Amino acid sequence: MGKELYPMCAKCAKRICEPYTPIGTEPPPVEEAPFFCPMRLKHSVIEEALAEYDKPNIKEFARLSSLQEAECYEWVPTGVGDNLGLRTKFPRVEETMQFARKMGYHKLGIAFCIGLDNEARILDKMLENHGFQVISVCCKVGMVDKERIGLKREEMIVGKRGYMCYESMCSPIAQAEILNSEGVDLAILLGLCVGHDTLFIKYCRVPMTVLAVKDRVFGHNPLAAIYLSSSPYYSRLMTS
Ligand code: SF4
Repeated sequence: MGKELYPMCAKCAKRICEPYTPIGTEPPPVEEAPFFCPMRLKHSVIEEALAEYDKPNIKEFARLSSLQEAECYEWVPTGVGDNLGLRTKFPRVEETMQFARKMGYHKLGIAFCIGLDNEARILDKMLENHGFQVISVCCKVGMVDKERIGLKREEMIVGKRGYMCYESMCSPIAQAEILNSEGVDLAILLGLCVGHDTLFIKYCRVPMTVLAVKDRVFGHNPLAAIYLSSSPYYSRLMTS
């Protein structure tokens, strides 16, 4: 039996999907892509996906997304001859507000983790200062004890310490449904845990974006673990 073939873009050294060939010249043929390239393996799926962009509202959404992307860079002199270098311009929170404005969004929702309540307070004020209406919902909304989802006391955060107290479950489904019911134009996810964020995304029926994900160790910057994966402290992450 042959080896199973599936897309593996992360292993690709060719990246012909971004050829930067001059307009008017042919881009490289797909045969130059590696055997595991989805452009070779999933041609019909890519074509079907492309057809989705023909829907006017989707096309406009995609256009404004890419316009926003481009506005986040500028070409500046490097000081070496006539060379220009690409410089980044906006932090994600500013990019989020700019995109919301482009889309004509006014009512924004924040679904935040209680562990980031101060960040939520600041974000709320920042968005309001920029003219948005802000609906915000904390993960503990509902005040339901974790026993409701089958956790034993000794499996809970405080319970593990031997202290028997009411421990509210996170309810990303309630967060999503509240923002759905408010009809926010855009939901912003702020610091939800792994799994809770998955449930939020599953139940959220309004457009949503992520400002930050939870990383308790690295100041909610999970990529720090990737950047440090060759360091002695985090090389364990590369081995099973
Ligand atoms: S789409 Fe093809 S060429 Fe592009 S990164 Fe994936 S495997 Fe490489």
